[in-house]
Amino acid sequence: MYYKSTRDSSVNVSSAQAIAQGISKDGGLFVPDHIPEITMDEIKALGDMSYRERAAAVFSKYLTDFTEAEISYCVDNAYNTKAFDSDNIAELAHLFDGTYMLELWHGPTCAFKDMALQILPYLLTTSTKKLGIDKKVVILVATSGDTGKAALEGFKDVPGTSIMVFYPDDGVSAMQKKQMTTQEGGNVGVCAIKGNFDDAQNGVKAIFTNAEIAAELEKNGMMFSSANSINWGRLAPQIIYYISSYAQLAKDGEIEYGDKINVVVPTGNFGNILAAYYAKHMGVPIGKLICASNENNVLTDFLTSGIYDRNRAFHATISPSMDILISSNLERLLYMLCGEDDAQIREWFGKLASEGKYEVSEAVKAKLFDEFSAGCCNDEETKATIKAIYDKYSYTCDTHTAVAVKVYQDYRAKTGDTTKTVIASTASPYKFSGSVLTAIGEDSGSDEFELVEKLAEVSKLPVPASLAALKDKDIRFDKVIDKSEMKEYVFSSLGI
Ligand SMILES: *Cc1c(COP(=O)(O)O)cnc(C)c1O
Repeated sequence: MYYKSTRDSSVNVSSAQAIAQGISKDGGLFVPDHIPEITMDEIKALGDMSYRERAAAVFSKYLTDFTEAEISYCVDNAYNTKAFDSDNIAELAHLFDGTYMLELWHGPTCAFKDMALQILPYLLTTSTKKLGIDKKVVILVATSGDTGKAALEGFKDVPGTSIMVFYPDDGVSAMQKKQMTTQEGGNVGVCAIKGNFDDAQNGVKAIFTNAEIAAELEKNGMMFSSANSINWGRLAPQIIYYISSYAQLAKDGEIEYGDKINVVVPTGNFGNILAAYYAKHMGVPIGKLICASNENNVLTDFLTSGIYDRNRAFHATISPSMDILISSNLERLLYMLCGEDDAQIREWFGKLASEGKYEVSEAVKAKLFDEFSAGCCNDEETKATIKAIYDKYSYTCDTHTAVAVKVYQDYRAKTGDTTKTVIASTASPYKFSGSVLTAIGEDSGSDEFELVEKLAEVSKLPVPASLAALKDKDIRFDKVIDKSEMKEYVFSSLGI
């Protein structure tokens, strides 16, 4: 298997190269040259395997330049009970008639980003070793809250790496901020940006693709890589849990092998739902992919009109990890849907950069409308959904997951489609205790740790040990900078 760039189809690199590099030099994203198949017999076999074995089986189809031993090394070090609540890694909870919550937040930072970021450092350091690269790998991350912490936990004190995280100062929850500003580790840096997530992401992308900066790093024996979902090493691990959950549902007798399921994903950068698309096209019987957005509904409009238009107000919502107007991973999907026409991708994404807007062709629209359904909701609807689910099913979900539940309920009411459905549950409610408690009707005036205690009483869910421990940690990083100062921050942190 080789990897191409969405902006230059003649690029041809191994998975190790794609993961080590993060983004192609032309600014495009790496995509596999074909989607590998998984047969129903293989899916059946997965049913009897552990999550680690399922992960190894799926990785072996995408990372064909990795040896079996290298894949086992990565998988065994990432998916274990040191980092995750149980050996199941991802949990499936039955919510209501034929609807299942795929709880992806049982890792060390309590959001689904751990599913990929616990393994990325192993994939990355294995890749550089395979390629004979002896440079220090500098990881730059733009985060809307969850990626940053998950990446810091994954990379902290990993030899040969250094990590720097940028987050929007007013765009993350109190708990998310506390998680990042108290980060331990000798190779980490955390910095707030005056601006929103898109400003942070654009700043990181600009640093990545700047040839002069790259040359300066090279001189100092360093290279950049990315832990954002533009890195293929982030996306591949996310494909696994969709395949795994299908195998689990069939093994548990909830569905028959071959039955279709729908998948609902609360979406921001389009990485998680794109992983479900890959699972579907590998051969997992998935019907509709339902894309759920908050008030930043640029994807809802795109998936119903074929027009991507980021020229709109940015809303800071109670589901901040989805407060995004530029969904990077859409580029990978469109590359596949337009027949790998790199010139076409350059045109559309050139327009996005210059005018903030593009419209896809009629042929691509037809494919989009066939594969995806999309919806959005505002904060009031999100809160009402948290309350309704809590009252009716005694299930406490976080704000992002609630957006998915609401959009799914709307979809089901509108279409009458009662296909069994997996909803990606992307964060622990404890990460957003204040909003969750307000939604349920509890007072939320107190500090984030009192909120945690209160949520424990109300939800009866165990408090994640990693969040409880933050209370006694010192703030290590309190710098807030202008987005124009990001490059200087990086250089000074690296001692260049
Ligand atoms: C990152 C994140 C999302 C959005 O995922 P994408 O892959 O960016 O679409 C949704 N919910 C939570 C809790 C997240 O951290």
